Amino acid sequence: MACALRIRWIGGDRCRRCGDGVGQGSGPVDICPSCRTFPPRFIEAASTVASYETGPLRDLVLSLKFGRKTHVAWALGDLLAHRITETELAAPGTVLIPTPLTRAGIRERGFNQAEELARRIGKLLKLHVETRLLKKIRGTPPQATLGPQKRRENLNGAFACNPRVAKRYADASVLLIDDVITTGSTVSECARTLVDAGIGSIRAAAIARG
Ligand SMILES: [Zn+2]
Repeated sequence: MACALRIRWIGGDRCRRCGDGVGQGSGPVDICPSCRTFPPRFIEAASTVASYETGPLRDLVLSLKFGRKTHVAWALGDLLAHRITETELAAPGTVLIPTPLTRAGIRERGFNQAEELARRIGKLLKLHVETRLLKKIRGTPPQATLGPQKRRENLNGAFACNPRVAKRYADASVLLIDDVITTGSTVSECARTLVDAGIGSIRAAAIARG
């Protein structure tokens, strides 16, 4: 309980566009100050569960990323699934796409934490998880070391769609799943790649908003 109290949960006072929390009592807003500076591109809406600040939630996300702990993926997946339902982010038939790692990245880490989350959410919300459509084709320096502008440049051309698979999803609604959304550069670049492949409707959901 003490732990849960130390998490800054994002509730009804949120930005529909980027999923960040906004001032208490302002309710859901269509755009927030951080969206005005760096709006997530090609994304219609986003939801996140809590702020990625120091404390228990950050510890959980880090243990998901580096600890290969399946039960953490389940617990966080449960929270995110609940948030997706609460914010009406995924209509029936929505396709879940975890933000991909490169093959080398998966080899190094042993798994993709975003995919672990997506699998749990897919199971709970009965939504299909598609990992053949979007690939990360180029390794990139860790985003955390870069400022917002550099984050965008860093990811240019880092993702690609399988055109054969993309044909099947031309009319689909896609929900990108990630562990953390910071400036939104990663989900935006994923979404841009999907839009280029002809996919029309893209949203994003993450556990934490950095
Ligand atoms: Zn916003």
